[in-house]
Amino acid sequence: MPSREDLRGTLLRIDGKGYRAYKAIEDSYDFGSFCLVIDHVQGDPFASPSRVRVVVEVTRSGFPAEFYRNKIRSMAFRDYLARAFDKRVRSIVKGKRGIGKSGLISIDRGGQEVLDRTAVVMDGENLEARFIVGLPAAGRTILGQEAIAIFFQEIPRVVEGSFFAESVSISNLRKHVEIIEDQEFLRDHLDDLGVVAFVGNGSILPRRSGVDDRPLEENVVSFMSPPELEIGVDLPNRGRLDGMGIPRGVTLIVGGGFHGKSTLLHAIERGVYCHLPNDGRERVVTHNGAVKIRAEDGRNVERVNIEPFISNLPMGRGTRAFSTENASGSTSQAANILEAVEVGAKVLLLDEDTSATNFMIRDQRMQALVAKDKEPITPFVDKVRTLYEDVGVSTVMVMGGSGDYFDVADTVIMMDTYVPQAVTSQAKEIAREQASHRVTEGGLRFGSVVSRKPLASSFDPRRGKHDRKIDAKGLSSILFGKTVIDLACLEQLVDMSQTRAIGYLIDYYARRYVDNTNNLHDGLRRALGDVEEKGLDILVPYRVGNLAIPRIYELAGAINRLRTLRVHQTSQNS
Ligand code: ADP
Ligand code: MG
Repeated sequence: MPSREDLRGTLLRIDGKGYRAYKAIEDSYDFGSFCLVIDHVQGDPFASPSRVRVVVEVTRSGFPAEFYRNKIRSMAFRDYLARAFDKRVRSIVKGKRGIGKSGLISIDRGGQEVLDRTAVVMDGENLEARFIVGLPAAGRTILGQEAIAIFFQEIPRVVEGSFFAESVSISNLRKHVEIIEDQEFLRDHLDDLGVVAFVGNGSILPRRSGVDDRPLEENVVSFMSPPELEIGVDLPNRGRLDGMGIPRGVTLIVGGGFHGKSTLLHAIERGVYCHLPNDGRERVVTHNGAVKIRAEDGRNVERVNIEPFISNLPMGRGTRAFSTENASGSTSQAANILEAVEVGAKVLLLDEDTSATNFMIRDQRMQALVAKDKEPITPFVDKVRTLYEDVGVSTVMVMGGSGDYFDVADTVIMMDTYVPQAVTSQAKEIAREQASHRVTEGGLRFGSVVSRKPLASSFDPRRGKHDRKIDAKGLSSILFGKTVIDLACLEQLVDMSQTRAIGYLIDYYARRYVDNTNNLHDGLRRALGDVEEKGLDILVPYRVGNLAIPRIYELAGAINRLRTLRVHQTSQNS
């Protein structure tokens, strides 16, 4: 392996030359305590920055094996290192060293959620940081001395300050790893506890703003479970933790406007991921199979059986294999539910704020005026019970606007000035005393959830001269070949690196599994199983540091929103 002095020599030699001469530094260099790998050099100072890795032997880094002895600990440990690396970059790196991105160093450390990502990977005996560097230039002229400052001063100081045990706070690292292991442990045990979500006492749920995901700091009411719903859990590291358990079945969150209903639901939505210590939601843990459902008018729908909710369309149009390029609020919400259940959702999370009213309710007076045979929509209130009893899917919903749901709820939680109260028996009593007199329209069974099998021809990643042009354009948009997939309504997609991985996973699924698996659910499980087992690197031919593992629901959600999707239905169960 070339030595660091070889790199210095090359940089001195190409100093003042045209930018392309930087290509000469693509190589691996021995820096003593670590190995520096320059994988890819950018084409010009404004192009995507160069891809660089630093590899450190774990034994040399000095971190005790307790921090990476299992999968979840390793994920938390790697996450901590990425954040430590980023912190050092912010304090050490000058940043601007010429034109365009010259001087930039950046690692994909993530936000408040802790995800399995490729910014730091552990490969056998090696720990590896993957980051990007803007190689410095003035105009198109190489600034060799600036590059020397980056590679010989900044990067070594960043690495020494983050990838070696003696320079990081081992107690903070331990706290990070333990708190994340506890969250994952609890998530795995929610089923045993008979609950779909847990909100620990003392949690801070509200965020600073719609664009700042850190905890609100001033005038905040911390979470406290009502005694009726309080459960204690035993966590491997923390020991006992008390909090509110949301039981399986149908749960309503009611309360006046501005009393914190949506804030609670948002925290539950995010509880499918682990959170940082001091995020405020590190004790909010939700079932892996929980999916936020909302109305999404305008979306594409491809041969989904939405008959449980929508039938008898005008002009005799069927709904057992319903397709549209421009769904209405209610049909999109119905499709979102059936697609989520198709790929295994066990809990639906709904908020009246983002639901279609005619999908949620149809009251007694409307039933009197508009006959059932003139209303294609069977409202959710008439299906939410059979959805649980027939299909085993629980619902947690914010519903401040209609008491018709009291009849079908198992649990009612009222938010009062940000404090939850268990009001199930009061709600049931009101339902008895003031009968709604509406006619139940949902039938005795939920209806069938139909599996679909996509056609391989749906997935064409080619664009112009590229065999494969797939890229994330921000958090909620994927460029896939010539089409753009809009993910703005997948509210549990939290990180652009997940979005990027979803783009590649669609292609991976299309190549490997679309033809030789029974249906979408099986195929996506296989594709994600490969990623879980072998790592995200199987998705791209080179090593990148900006991928994070998505959930099956957001992956399926992206495929379902691909406007070139074509499917066969494969079963009509139930
Ligand atoms: P709702 O859905 O009941 O109308 P929201 O959840 O949207 O209410 O909350 C209304 C406002 O109250 C938001 O600005 C939110 O940040 C704030 N808020 C929510 N929970 C708390 C809390 N526990 N402490 C302080 N402020 C809160
Ligand atoms: Mg609200």
